[in-house]
Amino acid sequence: MSEKKLRDAIDTLKESGVRITPQRHAVLEYLLNAMIHPTADEIYKALEGKFPNMSVATVYNNLRVLREIGLVRELTYGDSSSRFDCNTSEEHYHIICEECGKIVDFHYPSLEEVESLAEQVAGFDISHHRLELYGICKECKDTAAQKH
Ligand SMILES: [Zn+2]
Ligand SMILES: [Zn+2]
Repeated sequence: MSEKKLRDAIDTLKESGVRITPQRHAVLEYLLNAMIHPTADEIYKALEGKFPNMSVATVYNNLRVLREIGLVRELTYGDSSSRFDCNTSEEHYHIICEECGKIVDFHYPSLEEVESLAEQVAGFDISHHRLELYGICKECKDTAAQKH
């Protein structure tokens, strides 16, 4: 992870007047390091050793604060629990593993021509679109191969 990203995020927190608690700092650092777009539960499990007094509610609360100032994006897919993405600066799409639920970033130019075509065809003012790709990730493929 680039230290710069963490420093920039901390600066944004400071500018927003948000108090930087050790937990908040740890949640942010974990999110910036984890490329899997973790759930609140996964963040909690990863940090509970370091902060024995921290609850899942604290993690949610920190994520809400980070989301409100635009440092984190909440991703909801169907009825599974929300995942959190701290890559809010670059437009990107997501590939979702149907086996383990991990989400990986996929960089592809934003499909703006689809939006403008939809505006022409349907007469809508399009605000945004969602594109998700689904499949089996490399780790899950390897695990499956080992079983055979
Ligand atoms: Zn997987
Ligand atoms: Zn992402």
